[in-house]
Amino acid sequence: MRYEAPETVESAAALLAGETGEARILAGGTDLLVQMRSDIVEPALIVDIKKIRETRTVTEEKGGWRIGAAVTGAELKEHPRLKQAWPGVVEAANLIGSTQIQGRATLGGNLCNGSPAADSVPALITAGAVATLAGPKGRRDLPVEDVMLGPRQLALGKGEFVVSFLLPPRPPRSSDAYLRFIPRTEMDIAVVGAGVSLTVDAAGAITAARVSLGAVAPRVLLVTEAAAAIVGSRLDRPAQDRLEAAARAACAPIDDKRGTTEFRIQVAGVLARRAALIALDRARSA
Ligand SMILES: Cc1cc2nc3c(=O)[nH]c(=O)nc-3n(C[C@H](O)[C@H](O)[C@H](O)COP(=O)(O)OP(=O)(O)OC[C@H]3O[C@@H](n4cnc5c(N)ncnc54)[C@H](O)[C@@H]3O)c2cc1C
Repeated sequence: MRYEAPETVESAAALLAGETGEARILAGGTDLLVQMRSDIVEPALIVDIKKIRETRTVTEEKGGWRIGAAVTGAELKEHPRLKQAWPGVVEAANLIGSTQIQGRATLGGNLCNGSPAADSVPALITAGAVATLAGPKGRRDLPVEDVMLGPRQLALGKGEFVVSFLLPPRPPRSSDAYLRFIPRTEMDIAVVGAGVSLTVDAAGAITAARVSLGAVAPRVLLVTEAAAAIVGSRLDRPAQDRLEAAARAACAPIDDKRGTTEFRIQVAGVLARRAALIALDRARSA
């Protein structure tokens, strides 16, 4: 196995594209190293991207935020202005693992591990985040909801990797929230995850919303019907009921020892409603 730690995006893409065997990006390693030790993956080449500056910085861009793919959850937590703009994204990243894991785990790794239960992915999707990919043919942007195609399946071409995420500018009175259900209090994989981002007008009515659900389908879902169910409302009880129903209708979960199909569908509605109420409360005071 060969280990490389290039300092530019272009050399990382060239290394990945030139490898004939299996090539993997190394970010925090909290998924990759576990999988290598369990013989689930045996890469011929590992490309560590943490020496590439762009992947390690958080910067303001065009009124929004650009977050490097190899920025860790712990680093996001230490960024007060980002946390103020996107509390849901930061809280989702900070649900990943323990304090030790958060010092390593990155947003890019969480997305590219390809798990439908990845905690930061619903939050990034509700944020309308766009992933900037780089590969041997150059760069392209892809909405986060289009990066993952199914479990362990990504829309990345040979030699492509995620360099950063762009979170759009925030209109006034906007906020977001992410909630998950796990059987334990921490260090567990989401049985259901729900993210909601919304904007309210001066009178408190919702003018825009995005809703995303994790762990209820082979990929993390952007549920446009659930968002449509609350736009125009003040999230009164009928709107909450519509949101719950739309969220549940979108679910096609597995049935396993951690949660039956019925349970996951039920919880998806409850979490979507609760996340929307938190996001609304935050938006009204934003
Ligand atoms: C004890 C423990 C607890 C955990 N708890 C949680 C949890 O609560 N919630 C949760 O969602 N996850 C959890 N995880 C899983 C893991 O920590 C997260 O998925 C984490 O975000 C992965 O990030 P990483 O930087 O460590 O990725 P890595 O392990 O470095 O990479 C993961 C995969 O993505 C690929 N990759 C990484 N970065 C990129 C990139 N920029 N472009 C293209 N491909 C890339 C790698 O090649 C690899 O296949 C846990 C893991 C452990 C060990």
